Amino acid sequence: MPEEQRTFIAVKPDGVKRGLVGEIIKRFENKGFKLIGLKMLHVTQEMAERHYGEHEGKPFYPRLLRYIQSGPIVAMVWKGYNVIDGARHMMGKTNPMEAEVGTIRADYALLMEYNVVHGSDSPESAEREIGIYFKPEELCDEYVNMAESVIEDLG
Ligand code: UDP
Ligand code: MG
Repeated sequence: MPEEQRTFIAVKPDGVKRGLVGEIIKRFENKGFKLIGLKMLHVTQEMAERHYGEHEGKPFYPRLLRYIQSGPIVAMVWKGYNVIDGARHMMGKTNPMEAEVGTIRADYALLMEYNVVHGSDSPESAEREIGIYFKPEELCDEYVNMAESVIEDLG
């Protein structure tokens, strides 16, 4: 039985500016993942450093911090079976030119620096990243269980 998980997904500033929020949400909804948290916000320097701390010291780090603060992001929490790897599979590789056709980054991005979407890479980073952007009471996962109980009721 696959594991039910939560993950943090963000439409990055380039994705928001290009009007890709609805397209990205639609892909995850169509797949069957459940949206349980959603907000638009400006990432602060402190949030950017917490989010991307693992990359501190790498050549692209200063540009990455500027990029993630270059406009609002749409921050989301998604729930579902194997949603962490499942969402990253749908996003495609970090470099859009290496991402498989049909993935979000392959279909909507050209450059590694502007790859339109973020997704957590492990259960630990998912919980850490969710905690940067959301308070527990901002997440609405009770309706997901309700939907599942409806399906069970129908047999
Ligand atoms: N990034 C970059 N240049 C690189 C590697 C990464 O600009 O050589 C940026 C890119 O926006 C990427 C983010 O830093 O999405 C985080 O990098 P990571 O390796 O964690 O990739 P991801 O998990 O986003 O696929
Ligand atoms: Mg990463």
